[in-house]
Amino acid sequence: MLVELKDRLTQAIRDMKNATVVDESVVNECLNEITRALLRGDVPFHLVKELVNNVKKSANLNNLPSGINKRKILEESIFSELCNMLNPGKPSFTPRKGETSVVMFVGLQGTGKTTTCAKYAYYHQKKGWKPALICADTFRDGALDQLKQDAVKVEIPYYGSSTESDPTEVALEGLKRFKNENRDLIIIDTSGRHKQEVALLEEMRQLYEATKPDLVVFLIDSSIGQAAFDQARAFKQSVSVGGVIVTKFDGHAKGGGAISAVAATKCPVIFIENGEQLDKFEAFDAKAFVCRLLG
Ligand code: GDP
Repeated sequence: MLVELKDRLTQAIRDMKNATVVDESVVNECLNEITRALLRGDVPFHLVKELVNNVKKSANLNNLPSGINKRKILEESIFSELCNMLNPGKPSFTPRKGETSVVMFVGLQGTGKTTTCAKYAYYHQKKGWKPALICADTFRDGALDQLKQDAVKVEIPYYGSSTESDPTEVALEGLKRFKNENRDLIIIDTSGRHKQEVALLEEMRQLYEATKPDLVVFLIDSSIGQAAFDQARAFKQSVSVGGVIVTKFDGHAKGGGAISAVAATKCPVIFIENGEQLDKFEAFDAKAFVCRLLG
């Protein structure tokens, strides 16, 4: 997972720390290496440039009195800027047990939405919530069957319709049913397309306005890199995205996708999923992740 990015970032910091004197050329070389590492990880250029400028500003190495540990300051500054890239500081809505919360999942087709809805439900069920799943994907044949299979596996109630073609009607009916049953975490799976088409975004807007979810989660496939920026921005313009989940972290994850999605939505990554099985799902902590990235 992200091995190349990790190796390159670690090496850049190691070289800087091993230099006899941390002068301007060592700092520049370190930041150039970090730039190259992030660009190869498919992080958009403007975000990399911003990170480098912020590091230069916050480390302020030229104006430090002698005797100050420049290596440590530079390392800490890189660490905190990488954390900021994955967590813009605005916390996501967190469902509370015993109070009804509605969470809507959005993203392109094939991202892993249906799988992740079930994983998110299962994750919370294990922690004592009473989740329920709604299939508001009336576009893709087999979407309801897929959700049903996962829901049955983990014994979570689900709702969907094989006859109603309006996703909003299905979602509202499911919400009514599960609210009556006192389910405290109601998860709405939505449809996708292969790209961010106008019809999909309009469907999401209508669903959002009708169901008024407490949280909209945008899903991004970790292998797509910086193309995530435009995808995330398109969804964000249609619905009020509040958190990001990065899917398929077990595959060819690039890092750029997660960073781009956070930058475009200004929302934190809240979970990652790293495998097809339903328990391959974990809460995301930007600091712990960057610690691992920097070795
Ligand atoms: P949706 O179209 O966004 O609802 O995506 P699906 O949930 O149907 O997932 C698309 C494909 O990706 C399916 O074949 C899933 O089994 C697979 N998939 C989902 N999550 C993961 C993951 O974390 N790792 C891997 N390797 N495959 C996944």
